[in-house]
Amino acid sequence: MGERTLTSMVEAADLVSAALRLVGEGHPVLPLQTPGPAGCSCADPDCTRAGKHPRGGYGLRHASRDPAAVTAWWHTWPTANLGMRCDGLLVFDVDGDQGEESLGQFEYELGPLPTTRAQRTGDGRHLIFTTSRPLGNSTGPLGNPAGLDLRGGRRGYIAYTPSLHHSGRRYQLIDERPSARLPVEWQERLDTAGVARTQIEVDLWADPNAFTRYGRAALSSELGRFLTAQPGGRNTALCLSAFRIGQLVAGGQIPYTQAAGELEVYAGLVGLPANEAAGVIRRAFQAAASYPRSPH
Ligand SMILES: [Zn+2]
Repeated sequence: MGERTLTSMVEAADLVSAALRLVGEGHPVLPLQTPGPAGCSCADPDCTRAGKHPRGGYGLRHASRDPAAVTAWWHTWPTANLGMRCDGLLVFDVDGDQGEESLGQFEYELGPLPTTRAQRTGDGRHLIFTTSRPLGNSTGPLGNPAGLDLRGGRRGYIAYTPSLHHSGRRYQLIDERPSARLPVEWQERLDTAGVARTQIEVDLWADPNAFTRYGRAALSSELGRFLTAQPGGRNTALCLSAFRIGQLVAGGQIPYTQAAGELEVYAGLVGLPANEAAGVIRRAFQAAASYPRSPH
């Protein structure tokens, strides 16, 4: 086994165990894309969020606290970056010297922030606090401070240690203690300015309109049918299910990436190798493209 293979296996084990630790602490997690020398794993040459947006069509709504789902995701995508949704949290995303300067000005005004769980990012750090009331993603109430962003609540997420940053560095915890409560002065400043109502980052990656009602129901029943396949017939079942699901994609009933992603995860759950499953699904979707299925 080459050194490179060994390294990536170690990294994969680290990622899934970090994900399961977060789940154990009650945080929902989701698989993110991975940055590489050739760009983002999403394969979009124009991707501007390399390694920072969700995988396989999974959006923030699908973030999970279920260890089985989390294990299946990293079985399917062993090097997927680890996303943590910010339910009950507020994260200060402090970018570089400018961010530190902005943060210092607010600490002067509102009082110092307590030491808390923190991680190094590409060029700065994340400070992670718990909140007494939900806050969203915004910097509005703080003005528009240079180098300082907030991520919070069910519409916010961050890449978490040991995810890979596109700079080639890994996110790294610099303080592992449990997150401290956001001081009341800070909470009130953000509350009164209505941060909870002015969420600026919309969940673009899980557009519920991309599924029709028919498509969602048909996909669920097809995935259910696939799971009941007997051990000897799973490859055949995957081909059949992928073809039928591909027909729904062709019919405009469900989005391609999400449908493929969900079937890949189910294939992983029954023990089919991820690479093979992805190839079978891709070919079946191609074959099904001429046979669209829709309710009419
Ligand atoms: Zn991308």
